[in-house]
Formats: sequence, C-alpha cells, structure tokens
Amino acid sequence: MSISLRPLLRLGTRIGQTLLAQDCLLCQAASGGGLLCEACARELPSNASACPRCAAPGAGNAECGACIAAPPHFDASCAAFSYAYPVDALIQALKYGGQLALAGLFAQALQRRIGGAGGVDLIVPLPLHPARLAERGFNQAAEIAKALSRLCGIAMDAHLAQRVRNTAAQTELPWRERAANMRHAFACARGLAGLRIAVVDDVMTTGATLDEFARTLKQSGAARVENWVVARTARGV
Ligand SMILES: [Zn+2]
Ligand SMILES: [Zn+2]
Repeated sequence: MSISLRPLLRLGTRIGQTLLAQDCLLCQAASGGGLLCEACARELPSNASACPRCAAPGAGNAECGACIAAPPHFDASCAAFSYAYPVDALIQALKYGGQLALAGLFAQALQRRIGGAGGVDLIVPLPLHPARLAERGFNQAAEIAKALSRLCGIAMDAHLAQRVRNTAAQTELPWRERAANMRHAFACARGLAGLRIAVVDDVMTTGATLDEFARTLKQSGAARVENWVVARTARGV
C-alpha cells in the first residue's frame, strides 16, 4: 500500500498545472472544466458488492464474517471507491500535495454513492490530532466533510470531538495492534443524545480508528453512527 513520494510529487505538480488548464488531471484530455474527464471518472475503481457494515469489498452486499463475529461500534459504512490506482494517488495528492480541489471531487462521488443520505442529522469529520493538524495545515477529512455538507444540505460539526492522543500512525503497526493503539484516542465535547451521525474520512483500512471513534460518539449518546469514506482497502492491505 505504501507509495513512494516521488511520483506523488510529480502527480501533485501535474495536478497543479492541469487545474489551471482545466484538463483532466489523469489523462490531460479536455474535461469541460471538471477535474476528471468523463472516461477517467467512469473508470475509477468502485467499491460495489461490499459489506454494508464495514464496507469490506467482496462481501456480496451481505454482512461479512468479521462483522458477524465481532460487531463494530458503527452501524454502517459506505465507500465511494476501493483504494486502488488512481484513487490512491488522488487521495495522497489531497493529503500530502495540498490539492484541496480534490475534496470537492471526492464529496461528489460520495454523495452519488450514498444517494439520498436520509437518516443522518450531522456530518462529523474524523478529527486529526492538533500536532498533525499543525504539521499538515489542514484536515483532509474536514475538507471532504465541508464539501459534502454543502452538497447534501446536512449540518457539519468539525469541533464536536477531539483527538486527545497523538497515536502512532496505524500504517506503521502490525494489524493486530491497531485496535489497542487507538484506545481512548478521542474525546467528545458535548452530549449527542439521539443524534444520527455520519463520520467522514478519506481511507478506511482496518476500521480500528473509525470503530474507536464510533465508540466515543455512542458513549456520548449518539443513536447511530455510519462511516462515509472515500476509499476502502481490501482486507490484509
Ligand atoms: Zn481523463
Ligand atoms: Zn463487515
């Protein structure tokens, strides 16, 4: 899953150039002012046939074995794409290349995947620890959530919860240690009695971070928590 930085920086530069030219940022064909041309947008890897609870691919739209064996704290998950090329490179370009226009493109894709989005009262981006936020300058999840909130007409609260522990990056840890690493990583600032919340993030990997966040929200009274993520990795990645 790790992607070397050099091609990403090149992609970042190319995205910067193509944004000015209003061409597709993947193939440089005319895109009619959009970030991607129709052909490239159509070919983005979908995450269809996934587990409705954790969005793990290949579950044939039925709840997967892992969710049945150990139900997570969240109630549902929806991923616009699977984490494969070129979605992986686009996400990295948003996160590390600061290409914020991509947040709008991801929000549109998520809105299409979610459909009516009925049954959600509040959109909440997965919080970034203040130290990471200072380092990066923005929270990519908050950028996507902001665009999605505008598109869906659902309120967003980016300050409802905080990341109180600057946990080791999940990707640096063995699979089985990821849940323990996340324990008590979040704190919720207010009561959420009866609220149905959609948590927005860029990539869902093991789901350990989102599970701990859902646990925190439910402890504060949330009635339902679902995850809206841009991309879902396959298990074991
Ligand atoms: Zn294209
Ligand atoms: Zn599942």
